Amino acid sequence: MLMTRGAPAPAPFDHPEADIVLRSSDKEPLDFRTFKLLLALSSPFFSEIFTLPQPPTPSLNSVASPYADEYMSFDPVTLKHKRIPVIQMTEDKETLTLLLGLCLPTSIHPQPFISALDQLVKVAEAAFKFEMVEIQRHLREVLTSQRFIESQPTRVFAIAYRYSWDLEARKAARYTLRHALNVPYVDELQYISAATFYKLQEYHRICGEVASSRVMLQPALAEHNDSWVWITCKRCPGSFEATTMRWSTLLNFTNTQTHPDSRKWWVQWIEEVAKELRARPWGETVRKWDAMSKAIEKASPCTSCGPRVRQDLDTFAQMLAVEIERDISSVCIHFLYRNSRRRLTVSLFRSTWRSLSTNGVLRRLRLEGSVS
Ligand SMILES: [Zn+2]
Repeated sequence: MLMTRGAPAPAPFDHPEADIVLRSSDKEPLDFRTFKLLLALSSPFFSEIFTLPQPPTPSLNSVASPYADEYMSFDPVTLKHKRIPVIQMTEDKETLTLLLGLCLPTSIHPQPFISALDQLVKVAEAAFKFEMVEIQRHLREVLTSQRFIESQPTRVFAIAYRYSWDLEARKAARYTLRHALNVPYVDELQYISAATFYKLQEYHRICGEVASSRVMLQPALAEHNDSWVWITCKRCPGSFEATTMRWSTLLNFTNTQTHPDSRKWWVQWIEEVAKELRARPWGETVRKWDAMSKAIEKASPCTSCGPRVRQDLDTFAQMLAVEIERDISSVCIHFLYRNSRRRLTVSLFRSTWRSLSTNGVLRRLRLEGSVS
């Protein structure tokens, strides 16, 4: 079966001195001209296959070759024809552009920009298959960059979990706290087990408990009690009757351990914050502007609270946010990964390739295989 010859890929993959061509898997393939040395330096896999003995080289006119195809090119220095082998890849042109772009030095080509998580996964699949450790390291950084982790932490978590990137999985788990627990379905959830998903939800729930408890107790902030306006003001309605009984029931504490001296508007605010923290347990929840502006509105008519409410609340919220983040950091989470299965699949892929190649059995060489 003759392969479909690819159209030439654009620069920088059109170099006339290239000594290897990688053909994309698209219906209308692109031929990426690149260099064996770059591939070998980036990938132990390629390093090995380029050193494997090949079946006897046929005459120039023959099409027989261990590779999918060959280009003939005339070398004006040696005045000889040289063969440039073509490897048929299972990666599409978008993946090859990113993967091969990452193998190039930045003095030749700017580092490729990965703009979507789907792209990242496709490149990661190839980087695992070809054992490109440094590219994997780069992808780990990209995965947890702000443009992905802030808005799509569950997807980032699932991808990190798929590749057993523990540090990134933990970081993403932390970012899931910024969103409500009932996340909409995302395709990447198929990468994680039900047990792992349960654990992620349990982590969210525990952090919610920790954060809301912290808000209701705040022992470290009690030393400022003589200065907060909601404590010093004796003009507007107090909170004791309205709220502390509910807190006491909830927390099984006596009334004296809560905030009987605080103004009512403040206790209503802190209750709202505690509730919101169960849904989104992270420090910034305390500084949520709509809840705070409601409290400021309520306190403003009081001649004592009004002039200071904004500043005091802001300072208090900042201090409390730091405490909440610290408390949440102490919540441990561990995930079990399926490393051994992935290693086995990569190793099988490699040995199958080696055996086919050295026996010269595979006339149309295809770098197939998946490491899922
Ligand atoms: Zn007041």
